[in-house]
Amino acid sequence: MKTLACGEIMSGCAATFAAATEDALLAQAGRHAAEVHGLEVTPDVVELVRSHIRDDGKPDATSSNRETSEASAPLVSPIV
Ligand SMILES: [Zn+2]
Repeated sequence: MKTLACGEIMSGCAATFAAATEDALLAQAGRHAAEVHGLEVTPDVVELVRSHIRDDGKPDATSSNRETSEASAPLVSPIV
């Protein structure tokens, strides 16, 4: 499920969107942007909106820093 919070783009807007595909989400957001914010939906606007889309499929998607724990071995190991 793709989700989008309009408030991340248009400060103060409480509208949120959810759709199965990015295209469906962009269609919803595009209509909202035009009707509520009076925006013209140009390719630039679409790209901006697309960059704020989140994939809700993975519950842990926001914390990607955990992968760094893999590189815990010291680069220089004293081999005697
Ligand atoms: Zn909005």
